[in-house]
This record gives sequence, structure tokens and C-alpha cells, in this order.
Amino acid sequence: KHGSFYFLAEIICDLELDYDLAVTDHCGSCRACIDACPTQAIVSDRIVDGSKCISYATIELKNEIPDYFNGKMDDWMFGCDVCQDVCPWNRFSAPTLQEKFSPNFQKLNFKKNDWKELTQELFSEIFKKSAVKRTKFSGLMRNINLLMDNSL
Ligand code: SF4
Ligand code: SF4
Repeated sequence: KHGSFYFLAEIICDLELDYDLAVTDHCGSCRACIDACPTQAIVSDRIVDGSKCISYATIELKNEIPDYFNGKMDDWMFGCDVCQDVCPWNRFSAPTLQEKFSPNFQKLNFKKNDWKELTQELFSEIFKKSAVKRTKFSGLMRNINLLMDNSL
């Protein structure tokens, strides 16, 4: 009923809670995400090879992004949602109404080339309390510069 766009979170406590059952498999014969993944990162049913995933490369990887990703990243500078965008179950997902989740950077009205001029100061301001901080300023600039190089 809600699709797959979720924030993952964890609460550690010592309360006895009523919990629901693990979610069941609703993929059937669909393979839309496998076929749409621009880096062939979904290697077989339900297995993602993180080393080929744009989300991993642009968020978690601390080193240079491997040549494998050249020409495959479209304009993704932080994460990638292709596999979620094509999932038929997300036809039913509704955007959150929580104002706190609205991207702060939209007010910048940046065009693609403007991102090259991002400074550490601006990064800290617009991504304050955002998951984008996970890749740090240096990681985001690494991603931006790679996209710019690939689009030359
Ligand atoms: S996030 Fe992007 S690169 Fe990673 S598995 Fe999904 S479609 Fe592929
Ligand atoms: S696109 Fe959605 S329903 Fe289809 S295989 Fe992927 S996760 Fe399952």
C-alpha cells in the first residue's frame, strides 16, 4: 500500500512490543528493477552487488569512483533511485507531507553547472540535518566533478 520509499531507522529499547510479520514477497514475475538498473547491480533475484551500485559509490565509497561507473551514472550525484522509480508498487506511494523532509537545496534553484561552484560553507548550510552529509563535502564534490567530466 505504500511502495518502497522509506527512511530506515532503528530504535533501541527494552520494551516488549507487539510486532507485525516480515513483509511477504510481492515481486511475482516482475523484473523491472533488474532491467532498469543502469549499472547491472541487481545481479540476480533480490541480490544487489553493492560494488556496482551508484548509491553505494556516491554515498558510502570513500575512495575514487571506479571506472566501471563511467558513462552509467546519468546525473546522479548522491544516490540513485532508478530501481525504485520503476517499481510498480510505487504507483501507490504518496509523497510525505512532512515539511522537514523537503529538500533544502531546491531554494537555490541551481542548474547543473552551478553545482561545480558549491562551497563547503554552502554545503554545511543547505545540507544541515540532511542525509547528504553522509558523503561529506569532499565526497559530493568528487561525484559532481565526475558527472561534469563525463558530460564533456
Ligand atoms: S540504486 Fe541505482 S545503481 Fe543501485 S541497484 Fe538501484 S538502480 Fe541499480
Ligand atoms: S520493480 Fe519492484 S516489484 Fe518489480 S522486481 Fe523490482 S522490487 Fe519487485
